[in-house]
Amino acid sequence: MNDDNSRELYDRALSVMPGGVNSAVRAAIEPYPFFVQKGDGGHIIDADGNRYIDWVMGLGPLMLGHDLPQPVKSSIQQKASEGPMYGMPTEIEVDLAEFVVRHVPSVEKIRFVNSGTEATTSAVRLARGYTGRNKIVINQGGYHGAQESTLVEGDAENTAPSSAGVPQAFAEHTLPVPFNDEEAVRKVFEKHGDDIAAVMTEPILGNYGIVHPTDGYHDFLREITEDHGSLLIFDEVITGFRVGGLGCAQSEFGVTPDLTTFGKIIGGGFPVGAIGGKAEIIEQFAPSGPVFQAGTFSGHPVTMAAGLETLKFAAENDVYDHIDGLGDRLRSGLSDIVAEQAPEYTVAGTAGMFKVIFTRDGEAPQNAADVKNAETDRWRRVFWGQMKDQGIVLSQNQFECQFVSYNHTDEDVEETLEAYKEAL
Ligand code: PMP
Repeated sequence: MNDDNSRELYDRALSVMPGGVNSAVRAAIEPYPFFVQKGDGGHIIDADGNRYIDWVMGLGPLMLGHDLPQPVKSSIQQKASEGPMYGMPTEIEVDLAEFVVRHVPSVEKIRFVNSGTEATTSAVRLARGYTGRNKIVINQGGYHGAQESTLVEGDAENTAPSSAGVPQAFAEHTLPVPFNDEEAVRKVFEKHGDDIAAVMTEPILGNYGIVHPTDGYHDFLREITEDHGSLLIFDEVITGFRVGGLGCAQSEFGVTPDLTTFGKIIGGGFPVGAIGGKAEIIEQFAPSGPVFQAGTFSGHPVTMAAGLETLKFAAENDVYDHIDGLGDRLRSGLSDIVAEQAPEYTVAGTAGMFKVIFTRDGEAPQNAADVKNAETDRWRRVFWGQMKDQGIVLSQNQFECQFVSYNHTDEDVEETLEAYKEAL
């Protein structure tokens, strides 16, 4: 496969950008990432003209794929052509806010921001401002963006920043616990209950192998937070409008969080984030409340148009049926292949999320430690390398999940399963 242009672009990029990329995970591919020229349906074409079936889908935002349906495309073009943004309110922000409030029962009010990171950062500040408490409980292996309060590792007894540049003082207020471990949560509440502002969790871990909650885990989190006057924050940046359709993962699990963070799909492929929840809490954001929050680009008209039209299209067409159906076929095909050729591996995911995890005991992982134990160089050699050589693009590392879009087809699924068979 010719990749001269990608290699040349990477050389140029390395001399002007740290690691040659603008987001860390993009450089995980060795010896260098390929550069994308353009998308085409469920496929992408790289700078050397090679075509791939794309299961990255922008890392999640592209629910509809690379070819947007006409109403979505026209609305984006119309908004961009009227002048991209104003720093003043526009009707389309109200339209998208009303849409989300109408479909997600826990969301009575919403504030739009520009990334998932900004959403979780603001949600943490809001939880602290609302409760007057400092500490945040998170899950080991959960990802809430590149922000100081969650770039923390260790356990509740012993936390440390997971990145240079994060002061220890931030880590001290963050309590990481294993996912699916009720006892660990009980313990942190026994010790710190009066100072826990919130428990923030992804309903399904989507950045660390895909880990599903055990039955009742989220109900338990709902109960214990309520008992202690802490907030429950669902980080639905990945699962929002993907799992559980327009009601999001919280509707699937039947749990009502106090706050929800959104990103990815609600911006229809443009930079976005949002914090939604109980009116009484969201009203604590400035200017109605004392928790400062602001952004030049927030509620950007082009983003709002892309997000609204994407969600409206999904509401009025067979988007979720199509995506979830292909997701089921992928997962069941992969399960058959794994059972036959590599029974120690597991297939995880739901709706439009899927991943083969290299567990060595054939058990689905319950938490981050299980996923960590399954880490293997095979990802890079066998999966990334061999799958890419067969024209299939999987996520850039073995921990992030892969996404099905409305543009993907039965043929894409068949071709991908054949390639997995070969690679395994
Ligand atoms: N929360 C979750 C659950 C995420 O998956 C991500 C990104 N993958 C973020 C927050 C951060 O979002 P962004 O990259 O848009 O800042």
